[in-house]
Amino acid sequence: MIYEEIIMELTDPVSAIKGIGEITQKLFNRLDIESVGELLTYYPMRYDTFSDPGPIAELKEGAEGVICGTVSRVTEPRYRSAVKILTCVVTDSSGSIELVWFNQPYVKYDLKAGYFFIFRGRVSLKGKKLQMEQAKVYRREDYYKLQTALQPVYRLTSGLTNNAVTKAMKQALTITGDMPEYVPLKFRKQFDLIKKNHAVTEMHFPKSRETMLEARRSLVFEEFFLFMVYLRQMALGREERENVVRITDDGSCDDFINSLPYKLTADQVKVFNEIKKDMAGSRVMARLIQGDVGSGKTVIAELALLMTARAHHQGAIMAPTEVLAKQHYISISRDMEKYGITCTLLVGSMTAAEKKKVYADIAEHRADIVIGTHTLFQEKLVFDDLALCITDEQHRFGVKQRENLSKKGVRPHILVMSATPIPRTLAMMMYGDMDISAITTMPAERLPIKNCVVGTAYRNTAYNFIAKQVEEGRQAYVVCPMVEGEEDTEAENVTDYTEKLREVYGNSLTVEKLHGKMKAKEKNDIMERFAKGEINVLVSTTVVEVGVNVPNATVMMVENAERFGLAQLHQLRGRVGRGSSQSYCIFICGKESEDAKERLGILLKSNNGFDIANEDLRLRGPGDLFGIRQCGEMYFKLGDVYNDHELLNTANEAVSSLTDKELSDIVEKMYVGGAKEVFQFFNNYVTI
Ligand code: ADP
Ligand code: MG
Repeated sequence: MIYEEIIMELTDPVSAIKGIGEITQKLFNRLDIESVGELLTYYPMRYDTFSDPGPIAELKEGAEGVICGTVSRVTEPRYRSAVKILTCVVTDSSGSIELVWFNQPYVKYDLKAGYFFIFRGRVSLKGKKLQMEQAKVYRREDYYKLQTALQPVYRLTSGLTNNAVTKAMKQALTITGDMPEYVPLKFRKQFDLIKKNHAVTEMHFPKSRETMLEARRSLVFEEFFLFMVYLRQMALGREERENVVRITDDGSCDDFINSLPYKLTADQVKVFNEIKKDMAGSRVMARLIQGDVGSGKTVIAELALLMTARAHHQGAIMAPTEVLAKQHYISISRDMEKYGITCTLLVGSMTAAEKKKVYADIAEHRADIVIGTHTLFQEKLVFDDLALCITDEQHRFGVKQRENLSKKGVRPHILVMSATPIPRTLAMMMYGDMDISAITTMPAERLPIKNCVVGTAYRNTAYNFIAKQVEEGRQAYVVCPMVEGEEDTEAENVTDYTEKLREVYGNSLTVEKLHGKMKAKEKNDIMERFAKGEINVLVSTTVVEVGVNVPNATVMMVENAERFGLAQLHQLRGRVGRGSSQSYCIFICGKESEDAKERLGILLKSNNGFDIANEDLRLRGPGDLFGIRQCGEMYFKLGDVYNDHELLNTANEAVSSLTDKELSDIVEKMYVGGAKEVFQFFNNYVTI
């Protein structure tokens, strides 16, 4: 073989890899992989294991099967409709089965009649008989070789095959030696961590499960370590926090509480008292409110804003989506009117002229309360006297973003609200500088939501049920995992589903759709109409997952529920059960597997976000460390703050033990070593 040296650097675009042309490069870009270095940290989603072949007689429909047998009756590839079809029959001592390949005529050359092969493919039902589709064909010795190692399976995008990623990865791995080693040698020794270049190679092509887990442990440690370094670095810049704007209630808050149509829960009262104490105290407020979905955090935010505005200061509340910001704006401005307080909305979809006016209103203090999305970070936005910053659904924002908003005031009070049930130790680490309040009780008059997990055969019953609820004046959400049908034909999508429901209901109901690809203005309009009750059934992606509050909606139906994480399903469920009427949640399981049923069964047993996250973790177990991360929104590449929390603690202790000099050396190395991306990553993605 002619040895061809590949000259490449980590920062080179992936097209530096042989075999990656312009088109393939674009596909990689779609997966957020720009450089060779980024490709290297694109870790497999899971690994394929090659199980021993089993008897043909024991194959099951819908599952993947591996069989070993002799080939007979190979057909010539022929056309049926536009599809080229090839078949053969495979026989072992237990029976025979027909194998079929669509549009893979070349497989014919592998199939020699009378020879033994191993076949691996999906088993489906054709008429009354089982068949195996699109099987991979292996010579026995090749298959046994594959069995000894784990094969990486990467998350793909259409047009890019696993094989293509694997091939590219093999080339990229020749330069792992260039990857910077951030964890100091003393810790690597102390905690038995392996060298970065070995660990990365091992992650992609593990020799065994054990060595892969060892590699993973080292890389997760590094990930957490850098994150902690980042947090400590950020904390360094913070000054002693004296309260320069002491704020007290002038009686408006009591009045507001008395005029509410409900009584505050004991926890809400407790948290609001803590806030009052903070804002009037000697130190500026920095408080995190943790409370499960529907526990009533918004009203507390409103009280804090009211108190601030009545004291002639400005307050801001930031929400992660326009839909949510708009919703807050509508309810808060309505509530504040009688106290002579002016609210204003600032979101990305507004025209430049509209924004300009809002900027002026805020700078000249014509607006007391500003409600917006991350548009509130905009440099052009200057407050006259910002004294309170609230972030709703904090876990949707990066750490840095929380800081950025608070820089807009002299030293504003900070309140962050989150429904993500992160473990308390973790919360203390990440919000080391904050006080934590918890709302653990739900408003009393809530009826518990009735849940069911059912198969697709239940759909018509569900549609009838929804129609009945609508007749009683209620509304419903139907959530699908996809926007359109092209990407993945096996899951329901919002576009086709909306059409389907319109056919089902004819003119009797108004069915509309909502998804992330729609323009912000369209989304807002739909949400507004839904809130007003003009839309009966809203077919949506998970954009309705965060914070949306339409108490009149009583049905949440989720299609392909098996595709969502439990924490996410719990958030979706939180969209109903917000009013005094009985609410219902229908989880439709697209693929009926025992695993999915057991997992979804947790939702039937518990209505507590924290328990659900933990149970989910227990079920997934350490065997599925690479399953789609589904609890909370903590987004590390490899690390899982629940599963790996011991490692997180270790990394935290290691970072705390660093001297200032050591810390700044590492930070410098992170910048020099191209780890700007690391910071970027934390700013953009790591969310608490
Ligand atoms: P979250 O904590 O998820 O943000 P919200 O603040 O949106 O929850 O509150 C959910 C719903 O519960 C809203 O319709 C709100 O008006 C209502 N709510 C809030 N507090 C109470 C209470 N003490 N009693 C009854 N309903 C309440
Ligand atoms: Mg909320």
